[in-house]
Amino acid sequence: MDCIFCKIIEGVIPSTKVFENDRILAFRDIQPAAPVHILIIPKKHIPTMNDVTDEDAPVIAELFAAARQIAKEQGIDESGYRLVNNVNADGGQVVYHLHIHLLGGAKLSPLLGEV
Ligand code: 5GP
Ligand code: ZN
Repeated sequence: MDCIFCKIIEGVIPSTKVFENDRILAFRDIQPAAPVHILIIPKKHIPTMNDVTDEDAPVIAELFAAARQIAKEQGIDESGYRLVNNVNADGGQVVYHLHIHLLGGAKLSPLLGEV
């Protein structure tokens, strides 16, 4: 499958991993938009949030649990952080393998919504 994130999971494309288990992987974004910018992904290839099914509920919950744990490990849980999931073209999705951006380490722009 021609998916960058599946290749990162397989180790074909290198990444800086910060967390991994049998179901999920977290690694640093190659073009960080904040001092801490980590992508948290399921190992199952799910293209977008639109493709999530009821049976995916446990792994979705695990993505958020990992985000919470990684934020603490990165020392940004108290200062704060933002979790972002872009969906399809208008949402700004570029890589079609479900991922949550974990952003923090600085005061983030309040920008949300229409630009
Ligand atoms: P999206 O716009 O789809 O929500 O976000 C995709 C993210 O993946 C972008 O922030 C981009 O910098 C990141 N990205 C794209 N290709 C790679 C890569 O090969 N390695 C890593 N670590 N991040 C990538
Ligand atoms: Zn994939």
